[in-house]
Amino acid sequence: MSKKKPYQIRARPNMNTINLNTIFPIRHKKFQKNEIFDIAIIGAGVVGCAIFKEFCEQGAKAVLIEKENDILEGASKGNSALLHTGFDAPAESLELACVQKGYDEFLKLKDELNLQILHTKAMVVAWNEEQLEKLDGILKKGLGNGVQELEQIASSKVLSMEPNLSKNAQGAIIVHGEAVIDAWSAPLAYVKKGISCGGKTAFSHEVTNGKHNGAYWELDTKQNPIRAKVVINAAGLYGDIVEKISGNIDFKIIPRKGQFLIFDETAYDLINSIILPVPTKRTKGVVITKTAFGNLLVGPTAEDQDNRIDSITTKETLEDLKQKAYTMLPALEEHEVTAIFAGLRPASDETYYRVKFNDEKNWITVGGIRSTGLTSALGLAKHVYELNDTKYNSPKASKKISIPNISQFSSRDHQVAGYGRIVCHCEMVTDREIREACVGDTPAGTMSGLKRRTRAMMGRCQGFNCMASVASICESEVKKSCTKMI
Ligand SMILES: Cc1cc2nc3c(=O)[nH]c(=O)nc-3n(C[C@H](O)[C@H](O)[C@H](O)COP(=O)(O)OP(=O)(O)OC[C@H]3O[C@@H](n4cnc5c(N)ncnc54)[C@H](O)[C@@H]3O)c2cc1C
Repeated sequence: MSKKKPYQIRARPNMNTINLNTIFPIRHKKFQKNEIFDIAIIGAGVVGCAIFKEFCEQGAKAVLIEKENDILEGASKGNSALLHTGFDAPAESLELACVQKGYDEFLKLKDELNLQILHTKAMVVAWNEEQLEKLDGILKKGLGNGVQELEQIASSKVLSMEPNLSKNAQGAIIVHGEAVIDAWSAPLAYVKKGISCGGKTAFSHEVTNGKHNGAYWELDTKQNPIRAKVVINAAGLYGDIVEKISGNIDFKIIPRKGQFLIFDETAYDLINSIILPVPTKRTKGVVITKTAFGNLLVGPTAEDQDNRIDSITTKETLEDLKQKAYTMLPALEEHEVTAIFAGLRPASDETYYRVKFNDEKNWITVGGIRSTGLTSALGLAKHVYELNDTKYNSPKASKKISIPNISQFSSRDHQVAGYGRIVCHCEMVTDREIREACVGDTPAGTMSGLKRRTRAMMGRCQGFNCMASVASICESEVKKSCTKMI
């Protein structure tokens, strides 16, 4: 008698435990070992990406060094994606100057780079008498900060402009310039622009130490060492650790977690403007805003912690966030939460940006860029370029860079013939989009990087239906590009 093995039910693999990142080996062109760069930027968050673009365009030989295998794997991967005017920024601060410069630069660049923006306006809503009394101060502060397009309105106007808000709204300040952007495509465009001017990238190169020999820095990394005349520390949540390489220990990063709820696309039209609370000294408070991807976002919280990577969400906090949102926008109760996430702000032990140039060591610190870095990045980049003593005489003529649009604000790839097939049906992501995100000078280096370039697996089913197809397309593209590099 043949011995048949008893039938066994095999456990379904948990998708979350599969390390899909293994299909993204490092596929960037290697630079020469003995090359000495003018500038090495440590950290490919939005701030590092913008600084890289600026220096490359000005003609510097720059390298962007990142410990992960893609850009935006730190604080910059999860934020509210608002382009701020600076109406509530600390008066006369570097933060205010960089936010306003960054805002203007973004508008200048948006058409050239195909950056997406939704000019929604924001409304700072007072929900009680005490907050109502603070509106005057907010208006004055905003005007003092040079933000002219501010308007104080009564509760009747609030409700005529935002009919779904709770009738408890007592009044508001309209901040006309506040806007929603796609927080992921813009930094990608900055890096691509830098590369098009001759800049180099070094992913999976964690900087572990370094020494200055009087002429240049030799940075030790987990791969080969990298040499540069000037180092810029833009390491975000690890800014204080990287800073120790320069011998400076005058600031400490205190990560501040912000948890978010994402409501289904059906909730998108419940508001017209960004709904902001009256801010406190510590935080801008819980915001309700449209996202670039057609959802409604509620958050963030502000929770200080020691851990630099723990972005776990908690049931109680999310429930509390939900209740706060329902109080402001009761109609939300009819809509589902389709995703949750948390981001970590690289806050420091002081409230101001920690930016300085150590000219003895040729080391520039760009730290503590806590809650406005997405907006201020292009402004900070200009400021840091000015801080650096050396000027580069031959600004580079770059190639035209145009980032594929993944936002709801403009037409998507699936609306253009020849896309192959739709792979992610929740977010309408095409085969062509996924393939293109896996190749080029800044290919997706992680599965979350692929999500940020395409929106694949970000919808209602969170990849349940398409993850296998997405992974197999990536695998075939990565194999092709690795073969080409051999
Ligand atoms: C909840 C939340 C909401 C926010 N909302 C907004 C908003 O609406 N508008 C706005 O303008 N801003 C907002 N921000 C702020 C903005 O996201 C941050 O200011 C910005 O992302 C900081 O970017 P960064 O480049 O300084 O840091 P990061 O993004 O952390 O980048 C630093 C990079 O350095 C790398 N790195 C670290 N150590 C090393 C090493 N040793 N070697 C090599 N690489 C290293 C990291 O991997 C990381 O990629 C928000 C932030 C949060 C968290």
